[in-house]
Amino acid sequence: MSADAWSPGNPDGDMVPLLQASIEDAKRRHPSGKIRIILTQADRCDKCGAPAAYRLQKPPHLLDMCGHHWRENATAMFQQGWIVQAGRH
Ligand SMILES: [Zn+2]
Repeated sequence: MSADAWSPGNPDGDMVPLLQASIEDAKRRHPSGKIRIILTQADRCDKCGAPAAYRLQKPPHLLDMCGHHWRENATAMFQQGWIVQAGRH
């Protein structure tokens, strides 16, 4: 994965460093390492129904998001305490 600018063919784009940072943060918060990192085609974005790229957690809430909605909401969600629990990568 590169950290190139976002495009429809590269939905993660420049969000990759932020995702990596959030995964490291999740590992610190959950030292037991129970971070599932694989989502399937059956996992759908809770906002638009597209295949989910990321699962975000803020107990007791779970949200699945496509790359598009992740990108729209990630910064605000991190500030609210959401963490990334899973991704497709
Ligand atoms: Zn979506």
